[in-house]
Amino acid sequence: MLNKKSVDDINVKGKKVLVRCDFNVPLQEGRITDENRLVAALPTIKKLIADGGKVILCSHLGKPKGEPKPELSLAPVAKRLTELLGQEVKFAADPEVVGPNARAAAESMKDGDVILLENTRYRAEETKNGETFSKDLASLCDIFVNDAFGTAHRAHCSNVGVTQFVDTAVVGYLMQKEIDFLGNAVNNPERPFVAILGGAKVSSKISVIDNLLDKVDTLIIGGGMSYTFSKAMGGKIGTSLCEDDYLQYALDMMKKAEDKGVKLLLPVDNLIGDAFSNDCNIKVAPKGEIPDGWEGMDIGPETEKIFCDAVKDAKTVVWNGPMGCFEMPNFAHGTEAVAKALADTDATTIIGGGDSAAAVNILGYGDKMTHISTGGGASLEFLEGKELPGVAAANDK
Ligand code: AMP
Repeated sequence: MLNKKSVDDINVKGKKVLVRCDFNVPLQEGRITDENRLVAALPTIKKLIADGGKVILCSHLGKPKGEPKPELSLAPVAKRLTELLGQEVKFAADPEVVGPNARAAAESMKDGDVILLENTRYRAEETKNGETFSKDLASLCDIFVNDAFGTAHRAHCSNVGVTQFVDTAVVGYLMQKEIDFLGNAVNNPERPFVAILGGAKVSSKISVIDNLLDKVDTLIIGGGMSYTFSKAMGGKIGTSLCEDDYLQYALDMMKKAEDKGVKLLLPVDNLIGDAFSNDCNIKVAPKGEIPDGWEGMDIGPETEKIFCDAVKDAKTVVWNGPMGCFEMPNFAHGTEAVAKALADTDATTIIGGGDSAAAVNILGYGDKMTHISTGGGASLEFLEGKELPGVAAANDK
């Protein structure tokens, strides 16, 4: 069980606290078009301000590839954070991130002040976990707080390297929430525990399937990845997505599920189209009976019923990956049915980041879920049972 020290376990009064946030927000001509990540970071920042810390914020933004790119500056974030917090967030505009501006600003801070460093990925060492930049960051602070779950599966200077050069490294509230929900679901679930996997490829979810088969009572597989299973069982799948290299793997997984007493549910029918387009001709085909020239685009109506029934009495549900090409309205029905079923259960419902989180939000069920992870890749690696370097680097309780 992960038991990491958090911002509730430290005394920051008068101390310089470097906080790794996830301010990787979408920008259009210098305007922030979705500020959810800024709002989500506020509880940790406010707590540190209230406790009298000197709060030094840092984050990456986009992919400047190790050099300053003005269009990826965090300056607009400092401006918006100033408004959201109702106090100045001073921006330290150093192209080398930790430079004269950052040092001077950090030196002159009073308790409760907040500054923001420039985009950490302006430095090429950031994504290589290089020592010089890690030491530069550590030299600014007494305490390090990691509140960026989205990058927790990567070992970078600003979330892992820096912790080697500070005595105290803890997690913030956002990070704590992710660890609590994903960790509890995977390691200590209330049963019945149902996992729903979908999305395009078996190959990208192999480790998740492997890990979850040791934990769940029911595993539901839909989406593009289900056609590899269908073909492996001798079915006709037309031009549906398929990974021929994984046919044997699919059979092995089905056997593993049976041996472990895990109920494995695969589609019994599919919504198929005669082109990969929202406006193609559409019909329903039973499993393994997709004609040549047709492609599986969504789960069918019978499958929807079976999948939705399976979550009704669940106590914990984890979902990662859409049931079909949900970006096309004609093929969003299966994904929406599952989202609605999750919204209607009393179970703890946890949505892995990325496409499933986007689908749940676009379809309007976001506020009905217990927890929507903020990290796509990070939540997937969590479900694979891997130790995330960004989490591991924080001090244990
Ligand atoms: P992933 O990133 O692996 O979770 O895959 C998400 C993507 O899978 C989405 O863009 C979906 O449109 C796509 N997808 C889901 N079902 C299908 C399908 N039956 N055929 C093609 N693509 C699909």
